[in-house]
Amino acid sequence: MVLAYVVTVVVSATLVTLATARRTPAEALTWPWFLLLAGGAVLHLEAARGIERIREISAEGSPHAHMQSVWLFAGVLVLPMPLLVALIVISYTHSWYRVYKRRAVLFRKVFSAATVVLGSATAQLVLTLFDDRAVDLDGPLGLLALVTAGFLYWFINYALVVTAIFVTNRHNPVRTALGNASDILIVLASVGLGSGVAIIMTSRPWLTPMLLLTVLALHMGLLLPQFRVAARTDSKTGLVDATFWHDVAERELARARRLVSTVGVLILDLDHFKLINDTYGHLAGDRVLRAVADALKHSVRSYDLVGRFGGEEFAVLLPGASTDEARATAERIRHEIAGLHIAVTDRLGHDRVISGLTASAGAAVFPDTATELSPLLLAADEALYQAKNNGRDRVATATAF
Ligand code: GH3
Ligand code: MG
Ligand code: MG
Repeated sequence: MVLAYVVTVVVSATLVTLATARRTPAEALTWPWFLLLAGGAVLHLEAARGIERIREISAEGSPHAHMQSVWLFAGVLVLPMPLLVALIVISYTHSWYRVYKRRAVLFRKVFSAATVVLGSATAQLVLTLFDDRAVDLDGPLGLLALVTAGFLYWFINYALVVTAIFVTNRHNPVRTALGNASDILIVLASVGLGSGVAIIMTSRPWLTPMLLLTVLALHMGLLLPQFRVAARTDSKTGLVDATFWHDVAERELARARRLVSTVGVLILDLDHFKLINDTYGHLAGDRVLRAVADALKHSVRSYDLVGRFGGEEFAVLLPGASTDEARATAERIRHEIAGLHIAVTDRLGHDRVISGLTASAGAAVFPDTATELSPLLLAADEALYQAKNNGRDRVATATAF
């Protein structure tokens, strides 16, 4: 099923290439533009290689946002299909050797390249409906043509990749398969910049290096922050790690001291989680952790911070929360977790649904319980211990010192 889908996409891309190659006259082959774009794509990838490696690892299971689209979409506007396919092949082969080798599966990259070929072919088809020379497009119709072509270039590629991720891994959470909104924006921005590259290159070729610099600067600028977020994120759950959580908690306490406000902290531990691992296997356990992490994030306000403290233990920071509010939040989280139904595959490969999870939580509030972070966390941990001792599946509040 997966194989049939992948083969269909790759074969369609090949057929489209062959069909257009037969119809392209030799004088339509715009070699200078091809060489400029290929040069731009190669230099760009070389310069951004370090970032791309890390991004590829953290994008596991999601569509990967390619800033190479700047050069490829410029190609859609100025190159005939055969040269465009050559450009796509160069870009993907280059990134295979320099970024993904030994890390990704080759046929996945062949598949991705095929989806780009199909997206490009559709975009070009739309452009030829408006004008035979896409870079000459202007006026309101020209704008409409460019926007439609850009959208189709992105959408076809995206839809084909997302479908592949779905059929390969049905249990992959939908949101992971769809990828981040910020990644989609990066591709759309690349497409827009690609139009600029095509137009400048054909009317003022000597200014093209300026755009190469722009692309590189934006690439670093856009992706470095993402990169920093990745460095402090726990990859299994997508929550912040304990170190980062502590840093933010210290800052929130300092702020609460200044503003004479409160800060609630919750420490939460799943009950008998070892049983889940023992019954369904470690991978199913990981899937459960991911679902619980998502439920936690959904049960709190946007400025609350959920962190993973290790294992199946989580911490929630609730700026401005009173003891009652902290307790109410913990109860809400407990209900949310109890209502989860998580589809997993067990050790034997059978589809199973895990439900009826319970968790215990300890709550403590600054400054009622303690005035420094360490004793505050200790108190919340002590309360958690009491909740466990009193029969689990409950919330305990730390008593004031
Ligand atoms: P309780 O908290 O109710 O006392 O019982 P428990 O079984 O949950 O006990 P405890 O909190 O001490 O055990 C944590 C278990 O969580 C042990 C370990 O196998 C499992 N665990 C820790 N980290 C991970 C992880 O990243 N993935 C999976 N699948 N399991 C983990
Ligand atoms: Mg536990
Ligand atoms: Mg534990």
